Amino acid sequence: MNFYKNRITKIDEYQNLNTKNKRYGLFLCIANICNAKCIYCFANHGDYGKEKGIMPSEIAYKAIDKFMEMTPKDAEAYIIFFGGEPLLAFKEIINTVEYTNKKYLGEKSYQFHIVTNGTLLSRERIDFFMNIILVLQ
Ligand code: SF4
Repeated sequence: MNFYKNRITKIDEYQNLNTKNKRYGLFLCIANICNAKCIYCFANHGDYGKEKGIMPSEIAYKAIDKFMEMTPKDAEAYIIFFGGEPLLAFKEIINTVEYTNKKYLGEKSYQFHIVTNGTLLSRERIDFFMNIILVLQ
């Protein structure tokens, strides 16, 4: 038990943390739906047992703003598009990338990642991802 207790950072110690080169991640579950039916799925085929849907861009913008607000200036921010299958929300991904770059490029250090089953990748989409900072997983 003490093992875990010692790893908890008290809120009043948070400001004194050395955050340089530390990574902070936002998993943006942008598509609560999937086009696959993997038998081993951990996410109930994308919806986690909840209502299926695509995250409205306005919600994604709010999540990005909150995440950037909470991420220390000298830390690296990872924005990870997740699902379900996030490429079902390709338009919303474009919106979110454009919003983030417009507001935070040059202000914050961040990069985009995506966790995808790859079935909806196309030349056009790969070209888009090649033009932003993105790591495919
Ligand atoms: S691709 Fe991922 S989210 Fe979709 S069914 Fe397979 S494991 Fe589940």
